[in-house]
Amino acid sequence: MIYREMGKTGKKISALGFGCMRLPEIKIAEMSDAEKKARESLSWYEAQRDDTWVVDEEKAIPMLKAAYDAGINYFDTAMFYCHFKSQATLGKAVKLMDREKIMVSTKIPMDEVRESSDFMRVLNHQLKLMDLDYIDFYHLHGINKDVFDDKIMAFNLKKEAQKALDEGLIKHISFSFHGAAKDVPYIVETFEMFSSALLQYNLLDRSNEENIKYLADKGIGVVIMGPVGGGRLSVPSELSEKLLGKNFSTPELALRFVLGNKNVSSAISGMGDMTMLENNLKVAEIPEPMTEDDFNKAALMMVELKKLSDLYCTGCNYCMPCPKQINIPQIFNAYTYHNVYGLTAQAKNMWRGYGGAPVSDCIECGQCNEKCPQGIKVAEKLKEVDEVLSAL
Ligand code: SF4
Ligand code: SF4
Repeated sequence: MIYREMGKTGKKISALGFGCMRLPEIKIAEMSDAEKKARESLSWYEAQRDDTWVVDEEKAIPMLKAAYDAGINYFDTAMFYCHFKSQATLGKAVKLMDREKIMVSTKIPMDEVRESSDFMRVLNHQLKLMDLDYIDFYHLHGINKDVFDDKIMAFNLKKEAQKALDEGLIKHISFSFHGAAKDVPYIVETFEMFSSALLQYNLLDRSNEENIKYLADKGIGVVIMGPVGGGRLSVPSELSEKLLGKNFSTPELALRFVLGNKNVSSAISGMGDMTMLENNLKVAEIPEPMTEDDFNKAALMMVELKKLSDLYCTGCNYCMPCPKQINIPQIFNAYTYHNVYGLTAQAKNMWRGYGGAPVSDCIECGQCNEKCPQGIKVAEKLKEVDEVLSAL
């Protein structure tokens, strides 16, 4: 296993971290129609709590232990992962490991925070659930600028975090981010206490690349979530051949790319079975998963491939809203996956899950054509793309 500096914390983190959001689960009961109906009014967060599912601990715990034995020393979970059961399972697996040699990361869900005292209440609840004395990296979960201003600063969570640090309940305070990339420096400079950050970054979404460098330069550890693009890069494709002329599998290419960024401390992968773990370990054990030349080439080629395509949609959204609720960028994005990156299986899934109005609803008002800075004849192109995607 390769280890990297975790910012200025003095800790060395394994290049591959274990994300505990996809532990194997078992459905133990069916929900009645009345129960299903009652859940319709729940928030997304509350709806994750579903006791008809349990973690399959006979599989999950040995897998976590195998990861530890292979040198993984960073285990990341959160309150609502695996229908709210992930934390307890990780806590049990930790009993089989040397606590001093590993780092446990979990997160405080902002949905639980309605006043300052909620910080300590939730933290103590999580410690009890996991049967741990302390959390190594405690994240403010999934924040953006609005949540940061309206909750974290408004409830003075800096003071609460300091209290938790002073009492030894957490070793570090961190944040995981799901907002606009431009807001990261504001959040970091306003809060001033972060030891690490958990960011989205992969071949298909490099919007945080500048932030990764910014954080690393500040001595803040950078952990990456979604190295395989939330599964989009886990399907077979010709991408590696197209970008580098090498025959890496798509997930291997994706992980190599993320770890090829020298400013990344670790990439966490949500692993659900031993095969995934073994495949990821092979990459994390390579001292230089991607040379600087290949990294730059892959990054450049992704942009060039898109530019060279017959449809260069940047996803800027300027053409929206469409009066007929056709989600133009979403349709063009699915086409790009198929036509540009060769991620056809993924394009099919995206097309199947498309939630906007059908292209046949287009009234050819022409608004989208006028607003597109790339000069795409949107209405015309939509029809062509619709045919291609429907035939996949
Ligand atoms: S031309 Fe069609 S796709 Fe474009 S804005 Fe009008 S209705 Fe929507
Ligand atoms: S305005 Fe043009 S480039 Fe931007 S999302 Fe719409 S079609 Fe794509």
